[in-house]
Amino acid sequence: MKIVVLSGGVGGARFLLGVREHASPAGHEITAVVNVGDDMWHAGVRIAPDLDSITYALAGVNDTERGWGRAGESERVSGELRAYGVGWPWFTLGDLDLGTHLARTHYLREGLGLSGATERITARWPLGATLIPSTDSEVETHVVTADGTLHFQEWWTRHRAAIPALGFEYRGAEEASPAPGVLDAIASADAILVAPSNPVVSIGPILAIPGIREALRDAAAPVVGVSPIIAGAVVRGMADACLTAIGVETSAAAVALHYGSRSAGGLLDAWLVDSSDAAELARVEAAGIRARAVPLWMTSPEVTADMVAAALVAAR
Ligand code: GDP
Ligand code: CA
Repeated sequence: MKIVVLSGGVGGARFLLGVREHASPAGHEITAVVNVGDDMWHAGVRIAPDLDSITYALAGVNDTERGWGRAGESERVSGELRAYGVGWPWFTLGDLDLGTHLARTHYLREGLGLSGATERITARWPLGATLIPSTDSEVETHVVTADGTLHFQEWWTRHRAAIPALGFEYRGAEEASPAPGVLDAIASADAILVAPSNPVVSIGPILAIPGIREALRDAAAPVVGVSPIIAGAVVRGMADACLTAIGVETSAAAVALHYGSRSAGGLLDAWLVDSSDAAELARVEAAGIRARAVPLWMTSPEVTADMVAAALVAAR
């Protein structure tokens, strides 16, 4: 069985750990189509936070305490860059993580696309999944505020999403095309899962690449989403600030309705909400999306594997 997962960074990585836990023993093939909207050039290197978060988590080399970067890394190089006034002083890069960015930049300079560079980087570890960026083009998310626009990273990391957002721009998306392998993976999938990633700045920029939405609509495989919202809260992070900005209420049902039913031109055939949100099932079903309530807290790969199993049952 071929399983395709649309994914952002840290939340998507937790989900993929569960997908691998559930699917690898059965020999299923896992492909993640990953958001590039957080990517940027910084201090001369290309940074791809969501791809790297997934790579490090699946490789088991991520820093679980900080929640980002590599375990056991120092920040000596970042300190030197700060002394030179290079880059953003509030954006710290660990030294091991910088090694990845240097390697990626080297591959890009050699003429590989981001997908080719990702293939080289991920080949180092037995990840148990293939990672493909949504596009090889530079598509970056910018946040519109009353005082102008800023890169998503600046809004999120420096300002902790505290500046009210009026909207989001996926810059470069219109001229972009899906990375090699994305459309084939979607077309040949047996199940397509939408990770409980940020709907606005992780899944949104993937769907904004022309061709991907259409491919999902035409796919033979069912599309099943998992709610990133539990009991009206975002679980971890600040995704509520993003949802509010685009006028979507922070609830499991509202996110499903935002994605829409595939039978009505939207994304989803089925949607999982947390057991505590069972009262929202009827609203989702009324929109033409099959809905099920199961535990959605991703506390360990084993627990998440049960959630993935439920998603695959909902897919049938
Ligand atoms: P990012 O790119 O690193 O921000 O990560 P993602 O976009 O992939 O995922 C972030 C989202 O994961 C958050 O907005 C949360 O709503 C969601 N999330 C985090 N932990 C959990 C969990 O245990 N269960 C569920 N259902 N969602 C979660
Ligand atoms: Ca991200």
